[in-house]
Amino acid sequence: MRLLLTGGCGFIGSAVIRRLITKTEYSVLNLDKLTYAGDPRTVASVADDPRYTFAQVDITDAAAVGNAFAEYEPDAVLHLAAESHVDRSIDGPAEFINTNVVGTFTMLEAARARFETLTGPAKDAFRFVHVSTDEVFGSLALDDPAFNETTPYSPRSPYSASKAASDHLARAWGDTYGLPTIVTNCSNNYGPFHFPEKLIPLVTIKALAGEPLPVYGKGDNIRDWLFVDDHARALITVLESGTPGDTYTIGGRSERTNLDVVNAICDILDVRAGLLPSGPRRNLVTYVTDRPGHDHRYAIDASHIEAELGWTPSVTFESGLATTVEWYLAHRDWWQAILDGNYQGQRLGTAS
Ligand code: NAD
Repeated sequence: MRLLLTGGCGFIGSAVIRRLITKTEYSVLNLDKLTYAGDPRTVASVADDPRYTFAQVDITDAAAVGNAFAEYEPDAVLHLAAESHVDRSIDGPAEFINTNVVGTFTMLEAARARFETLTGPAKDAFRFVHVSTDEVFGSLALDDPAFNETTPYSPRSPYSASKAASDHLARAWGDTYGLPTIVTNCSNNYGPFHFPEKLIPLVTIKALAGEPLPVYGKGDNIRDWLFVDDHARALITVLESGTPGDTYTIGGRSERTNLDVVNAICDILDVRAGLLPSGPRRNLVTYVTDRPGHDHRYAIDASHIEAELGWTPSVTFESGLATTVEWYLAHRDWWQAILDGNYQGQRLGTAS
């Protein structure tokens, strides 16, 4: 199986590639532009494997994408490349429209051209899996049922609106051109190699240093957390066994308020790194003005992928968070280089 994967130097794409190379027989072509969020060190552990190939390509560049398809002749596509940080989408939405909407269109057109050259079992087996977010569904009230595959779209940020547009394109290419597209909508991921502007790594790094911990509003926004390796396993399951035209919502059944998450990180660090002279790290929390349009709650009902494809999360939030904090303690070189180097130091936010 020759898989063309986009965004493989990012947080989730790199977890998928590490899994594909170490646990499967797949060959992978990783198309990544290497934006501020793309870091080849995330795939360094598998980069020398002959089944892994990298090409620095902007997915909005139709000629470069077309060449990659023509040369690699993929059997399937797993599309993750995106601008992914909500705060950045508020400060500068243009890049989100370009990469997430125009880039997805470019990928769909290239995949369609490839699909139309195929015949027989290769055509039957071809898949285009489009990786999206639960943020397209908008915001839940506390007593609302969790999002599932039938929840109407209601995106509220430039990021989620651009992802919603890309989901519609993927489904339209399925209905109109017969391209075997599958859409996944996942909840918030966490784990190793998460870029240090996102809530869990940001708080871990700041709490370790004894710095103030910025929390939006009252810290009562709720996210449904999924360990990134469980998401990687879900995406491979969907690629192999998902039904073309279908949607799978993926989540960890681990709803936590942002304040719960921050406090849990503080407690782990107090034990692992010792108390600060000023006392427990929970005291470092400082509440900052909420961002505009901040969705209150996300939650995923993952019954469909659990029942149809037999996927379930394997990691509880408590053990996954402990593993993650431990990883950041052991890999200071990775995140320190980002903080010292190409990280642009934009407004440091909380969970998206
Ligand atoms: P990320 O920001 O860590 O990585 C994105 C990757 O895409 C980077 O390697 C970047 O260089 C690359 N990229 C960006 N623009 C590109 C372009 N124009 N051409 C080629 N490559 C480009 O993102 P992530 O957290 O790994 O998210 C991956 C996907 O999963 C995204 O589509 C995102 O919307 C979705 N998602 C993320 C989460 C989450 O919690 N992180 C949850 C649900 C869905």
